[in-house]
Amino acid sequence: MSTPENLAPGVVPPLLDVRDLVKHFPIRRGLFGTPAAKVHAVDGISLSIAAGETLGLVGESGCGKSTAGKVILRLIEPTSGSIRLEGRDITTFGDGDMRSVRREMQVVFQDPYSSLNPRMRAGEIVGEPFINYGMGNAGEREDKVASLFRRVGLRPEQMARYPHEFSGGQRQRLGIARALALGPKLIIGDEPVSALDVSVQAQVINLLMDLQAEFGLSYLFIAHDLAVVEHISHRVAVMYLGKIVEVAPKRALFGAPQHPYTEALLASVPLPKPGMRRARQTLKGDVPSPIAPPSGCRFHTRCPYAIPRCSQEEPLLHKVGEGHDVACHLR
Ligand code: SF4
Repeated sequence: MSTPENLAPGVVPPLLDVRDLVKHFPIRRGLFGTPAAKVHAVDGISLSIAAGETLGLVGESGCGKSTAGKVILRLIEPTSGSIRLEGRDITTFGDGDMRSVRREMQVVFQDPYSSLNPRMRAGEIVGEPFINYGMGNAGEREDKVASLFRRVGLRPEQMARYPHEFSGGQRQRLGIARALALGPKLIIGDEPVSALDVSVQAQVINLLMDLQAEFGLSYLFIAHDLAVVEHISHRVAVMYLGKIVEVAPKRALFGAPQHPYTEALLASVPLPKPGMRRARQTLKGDVPSPIAPPSGCRFHTRCPYAIPRCSQEEPLLHKVGEGHDVACHLR
């Protein structure tokens, strides 16, 4: 297993450090044809997450945020770039090394029902990672599963039930219990509360925050619901068509967004009272195709402030404040 690289003695690396990550999906002509084009799902993103920190990753559907999460987990292989976990470059780890890394990086998906085997009892689902990693005997595993059930707000008596006998919120608690089983350091939540009712969303978010405080977990929280992201995140990265266009501490991003896309996303959040007027421009039109993204700034086809330079030259992320980077020619 690798050790932290390229770090001065005494420097603690971020828990997760992703550099220039790219994922292109080739589109072939015919079953075995040569690639005719490619989907630019993730196009050179960099991000880092400290121990105990939550980074929200937001953007419209189709912006590449879920693909980014899967590539970071190595559920999908990256086209290029690097993924470091506590300084170890895991980008090219083989199955053996990844097996131990997978204990440290877990995922909670949006739809707990489709990610839970309907033929397995809830206790078996949560305890399966212990069997996969050869941990404990049957009695010890049952005790651990019962303890995980209690920790996520379920009752140990419910271990004998099947997934369909649980509510949506309870199923998501099962997914969280399974993710916690091996004592991970990082959990990637891929729209983990989007399928739940608002009141249940709040309960699951509070559970995730309690677990973070208790175990020092780090989260990459992928979501399109900005209200949820604002509640749980310490920092937020905004993605548009495969690129990160703004990253900032939560207060700065929600209080004074700098990128026109972030501004428009915030303006799209439903207003709390009927009749309230918006101060900002809302988003118009659809996200362009990631097969042929617009030239220059990818947002220029929808940006109300676009100038001729925007379609010719790609804006790079640059610092506009403490921990606040934005990719826009006008900032
Ligand atoms: Fe709008 Fe131009 Fe800024 Fe892109 S670079 S967000 S098109 S102003």
